[in-house]
Amino acid sequence: MPASSRVPSTRIATLNDGPVEKSGRYVLYWMVANRRIHDNFALDYALELGRLLQRPVLVFEPLRHGYRWASDRLHAFVLDGMVDNAADCKRYGLRYYPFVERADVPGTGLLAALAEHACAVVTDDFPCGFIPRMQRAAASRVPVSLIKVDSNGLLPMAAAPRVFKTAASFRRHVQRSIVDALLVQPNARPKAAHGRATIPAVVLEKWPAATQKELTSGREKLLESLPIDHDVVPVELRGGASAGGELLTRFVTARLQGYAEDRNHPDRDATSGLSPYLHFGHVSAHRLVREILTREEFDPQRVGAPRGQREGFWGLSTGAEAVLDQVLVWRELAFNAAHFGVAAERFEQLPEWARTTLTAHAADPRTHVYTHKQFEQAQTHDPVWNAAQRQLVTEGIIHNALRMLWGKKILEWSPDPVTALETMIELNNRWALDGRDPNSYAGIAWVLGRYDRPWGPRRPVFGTVRFMSSASTSRKRRIREYLARYGEQAGLFDGAA
Ligand SMILES: Cc1cc2nc3c(=O)[nH]c(=O)nc-3n(C[C@H](O)[C@H](O)[C@H](O)COP(=O)(O)OP(=O)(O)OC[C@H]3O[C@@H](n4cnc5c(N)ncnc54)[C@H](O)[C@@H]3O)c2cc1C
Repeated sequence: MPASSRVPSTRIATLNDGPVEKSGRYVLYWMVANRRIHDNFALDYALELGRLLQRPVLVFEPLRHGYRWASDRLHAFVLDGMVDNAADCKRYGLRYYPFVERADVPGTGLLAALAEHACAVVTDDFPCGFIPRMQRAAASRVPVSLIKVDSNGLLPMAAAPRVFKTAASFRRHVQRSIVDALLVQPNARPKAAHGRATIPAVVLEKWPAATQKELTSGREKLLESLPIDHDVVPVELRGGASAGGELLTRFVTARLQGYAEDRNHPDRDATSGLSPYLHFGHVSAHRLVREILTREEFDPQRVGAPRGQREGFWGLSTGAEAVLDQVLVWRELAFNAAHFGVAAERFEQLPEWARTTLTAHAADPRTHVYTHKQFEQAQTHDPVWNAAQRQLVTEGIIHNALRMLWGKKILEWSPDPVTALETMIELNNRWALDGRDPNSYAGIAWVLGRYDRPWGPRRPVFGTVRFMSSASTSRKRRIREYLARYGEQAGLFDGAA
């Protein structure tokens, strides 16, 4: 292993006892979560290892089909990203191997076959979904060292001393550590060395790489041929590092100033829209934070004392402070829970006060009770809720101001809180482009009381869990255009599942 790596040791974990095989042909980067070439500590680490061993790096990006919620929508976004990754690898002199698993060409055995020729395998540390399970299983099948590297956020997940139960305590932790953490950035332009890796011919013969045509003009045909959920159709939004980077720049240059004021008003279109790109790793949180700080001419001398204040810590504009709070506190709080194994899909893992109050009110009569299908098809009596659900189904996203209401109403109109939890997870992860993320589970758990406190007055169904109403949301938020766009009359949904 590199004696003095630029990648902080808290970001690196070895998953097996395999050796680093000096006679291997390449260092394999098994890209499974942070699907990008820029600003990626895992790729940086693979390149460092390659330099040490005088071997090239092979970037291997597979796309499986057998995971829960695999759909045309999620696949299309990843395929877009592969096009950009192919171009970036070419630009930086890296060999890239995109592989799309098909029913007739299963990916079983591919990683082991590639690893047989590798000095070591480096992969992404992503604490959610099927990835940790898949990597644990791979650890015993890979004959060389398998190392995971955390490139998820600005603070290494393993550097946190514990599970944080409130945003306030996590904010203090972030403020204490962030200035030092900013000094260690992943490479914005990775430097390849020792030529381009060669993919063994026997591997390519059995598991052909996805072609440029399949990823672009032939994408529809490719998707059709895969055993995935075809009802969840692709959205207009293009995936990949290039589209994500453009969105990021547009946000920082045009929306940042108004973010604090306007982010809760769907009509004002003030948020970044970056969550799908952050989820698939097409854009890094490092780059987002870096561009905000550069734009705002950040000066570390102006940073305040770490007292956990929501505003004023950075010495920046209110817009910048507000978005940094979302990205560094709320997003990384979700990764903190996931890293320490808090399984948010389990009702038992909610805070005790929330479980107790929700259980005490589980049998309360409901004004309305909807089935999963009724929710999915936006067939409730509430036009605001239906509009949010339509946005989810048609665009793969819900504006945050309505996402909270969306969850609260599912709790209110489900037969019990456990069913509400299941419904939220299923709808969010099936339809949202940013679903299946630590943020998904943290957001859903927030609806049920996590990271919140008891609120009075005690209400039916909710007990002391925070309540939200569509009437007050409509009063307080600018949503007229939103309702026109996603309302009943908008004619969305023809053909939706
Ligand atoms: C019920 C429910 C479900 C949610 N499901 C998801 C999900 O599946 N995936 C997801 O990424 N987020 C989820 N969130 C959090 C939040 O709604 C989204 O991150 C945000 O709306 C994304 O839009 P944006 O990228 O324009 O955000 P911006 O406002 O532009 O914020 C920039 C980034 O900061 C982070 N961020 C912003 N708000 C939050 C928040 N409340 N919690 C955590 N991180 C935040 C995100 O990474 C976001 O992309 C959920 C929230 C709730 C209440």
